[in-house]
Amino acid sequence: MKITIFGVGYVGLVQAAVFADVGHDVCCVDVDAVKIEGLQVGTIPIYESGLESLVEAGVTSSRLHFTTDLKEGVAHAQVYFIAVGTPPDEDGSADLRYVLSVAETIAQGMDGEAIIVNKSTVPVGTGDKVRARVESVLQERGVNIPFSVVSNPEFLKEGSALADCARPERIIIGTDSPYAEEVMREIYAPFSRNREKMLVMDQRSAEFTKYAANCMLATKISFMNEMANLAECMSADIEQVRRGIGSDSRIGYSFIYPGCGYGGSCFPKDVQALARSAGEYGYNAAILSAVEETNARQKEKIFKYIVQHYGVENIRGKTLALWGLSFKPDTDDMREAPSRVLLEALWQAGAKVHAYDPEAMEEAQRIYGYRSDLTLMGTKEAVLQGADALLIVTEWKHFRVPDFELLQSSLADRVIFDGRNLYDPQSVEQLGLAYYGIGRGRSC
Ligand code: NAD
Repeated sequence: MKITIFGVGYVGLVQAAVFADVGHDVCCVDVDAVKIEGLQVGTIPIYESGLESLVEAGVTSSRLHFTTDLKEGVAHAQVYFIAVGTPPDEDGSADLRYVLSVAETIAQGMDGEAIIVNKSTVPVGTGDKVRARVESVLQERGVNIPFSVVSNPEFLKEGSALADCARPERIIIGTDSPYAEEVMREIYAPFSRNREKMLVMDQRSAEFTKYAANCMLATKISFMNEMANLAECMSADIEQVRRGIGSDSRIGYSFIYPGCGYGGSCFPKDVQALARSAGEYGYNAAILSAVEETNARQKEKIFKYIVQHYGVENIRGKTLALWGLSFKPDTDDMREAPSRVLLEALWQAGAKVHAYDPEAMEEAQRIYGYRSDLTLMGTKEAVLQGADALLIVTEWKHFRVPDFELLQSSLADRVIFDGRNLYDPQSVEQLGLAYYGIGRGRSC
């Protein structure tokens, strides 16, 4: 089937490659000429395991191509996926300008019955706005072309995006059009071979499902971080508590890891956007504000430990080794990453940072440029040389089993601030290193 995808970011590019892989003929359109020119010569703009070879296979088979030409994109197909960004507005609500601009582009060029599928995360009711925008352009054109608007939110996770897209747990489709439903079933049939994964519902419920899912996950994290903070006050160990509650099948183990806060392009903005949408309906979604507030506090946690350990006046002149820059492992994405809050607080206090991340170094360079208080280094060992302490903010796998002897001999102040609870405090302390984890029994 011919498909056009507008927006070639984490969502659009991965989905396009996966669609091409199962045989669809996909045209990818983006307004970012640098990104498209790169993709045309095989340069993948993001780090996602397996993506490069899948894109290459798609291009080689001629089932995947890239363009900045919006008209070409519209002419390519009659099924259009919108996968552009929906960043937070100044007040935290979702900015729909890119989504509505694509809707307009489609309406200006479409010449046969069209299906407009919204994959971006958008507030409830956006489908109606897209419909209204398309209708008004068609009216201006003086044509009457039938079309449907479908909500099809995306649930992929950066770091495992390819697998999530190729083997989705569920496919949410929001539409009341039997024709659009039939076409969506055809597009997604290769992904539902063993069991039916498609859940068809009304458009507003589909839009809301995405926010409810992300807010639930963010709530689990903030809840657990709040428990970790209480565990500190009460001299309990949150890691033992985590195992204790995770073994209850009603709770489960996933998403209950305490840490130095969630980041990324989705949870922070989606929690904020739903809270703002609630406000527009005159409803105070108190739990969402608490989730946000707890997370903001949690991102400051490691810096607070550093202040507690050294005294704020003694941070100036320290050199701190930082392991991890991306907001989570297996991605180079630093949007809303806890590392950024920590870096900025450290610089403000006069410290220097030696940082290492397996994938996010270029991104850090892009964000911060060259500055004398940030040195990006090529290995996790290199950053230890000349450092006073080690800080961990991203739980990359190969940080799990470090060479503790090297840490002990390299770190002048022999202290680890671990924002992801990777190590056992007692074992680390037995090696002669001071250790700060999240919720590990120190008094608050
Ligand atoms: P992104 O910022 O990586 O990519 C968006 C792309 O859209 C950019 O390349 C941009 O140049 C392009 N764009 C903007 N305006 C355009 C236009 N008029 N025509 C064509 N292209 C245009 O964003 P993303 O992370 O892929 O997220 C896209 C949407 O999917 C967001 O709503 C996000 O909330 C949602 N989402 C993201 C994830 C994730 O993990 N990143 C997961 C699920 C859902």
